[in-house]
Amino acid sequence: MTVPTDLRRCLVCGGAGEEHTRLDGNLRRCPSCTFAWTAHPLPPTTELYDESYFTGDGYEDYYLPRPRRYESARRLRWLQHTTRTHQPTTLIEAGSAGGYFIKAAQHAGITAHGIEISAHAARHARDHLGVPVHHGHFETFTPPHRVDAVCAFHVLEHVENPRQFLHAAHRMLNPRGWLALEVPNIASAAATRLGTNWPGLQFRYHRWHFTPDSLLRLVTTTGYDVVTCDTAVFRYYMPAGYRLRHARRLVPPDWLDTRSLRLTQPRLGDLLRLVARVREPRRERS
Ligand SMILES: [Zn+2]
Repeated sequence: MTVPTDLRRCLVCGGAGEEHTRLDGNLRRCPSCTFAWTAHPLPPTTELYDESYFTGDGYEDYYLPRPRRYESARRLRWLQHTTRTHQPTTLIEAGSAGGYFIKAAQHAGITAHGIEISAHAARHARDHLGVPVHHGHFETFTPPHRVDAVCAFHVLEHVENPRQFLHAAHRMLNPRGWLALEVPNIASAAATRLGTNWPGLQFRYHRWHFTPDSLLRLVTTTGYDVVTCDTAVFRYYMPAGYRLRHARRLVPPDWLDTRSLRLTQPRLGDLLRLVARVREPRRERS
């Protein structure tokens, strides 16, 4: 695995990164393309994602069935809606964690497999949900067949090299295959307002911090055409009943940040999502 050691240069455009004056010196940012990254080097991914990461010591409980099922169903609906002209029948999810999205995709008739860096999470997916999740590095994985879609939800900010990751996805995809990504949006209104308290930063785990512009640039320079890119607030993944019961706590900050009650936003929400397609090779002129 190639680990980019030069944390002074921007991985997206090659520009020189500047130290960010806020966020306690934890961030460097490229002034030309808005991409940002954690200023200090992180351990290899193989060391970061042990059992404790997935069971709450990291920052979330990845094995709680109800919220994970809800989140997976929403993501699948979004994917199916966005790809409705040519819906995927085969899919690989990178960083499939507890396997809930794979389960939802299978339930919808899609042949879905997961690749997961954590042996613990891969085992959970196989033993508790009975879904095919391989333990290993996505970047070096060779699937037996190419697939119609590669999904990576909250993975790109963790990987050692996002460019290498997107090239690997490209190799696994059929011509005009779909790439679906979700990452935290450091350009969100909440990130700007909350500074180091914004939950999307996670300097212990997140190497890379995307804005809509830098994510678009990275994806378009690795062989894809972007179909859609928007954002969602954290409330988007909370079930309707929960949103209603906790409305007094949840709604005012979102209103303050986005001046809207909508769960999705063009650019200001906490979570940045994108669907792209493998670019068609240019036809040679005869
Ligand atoms: Zn840059």
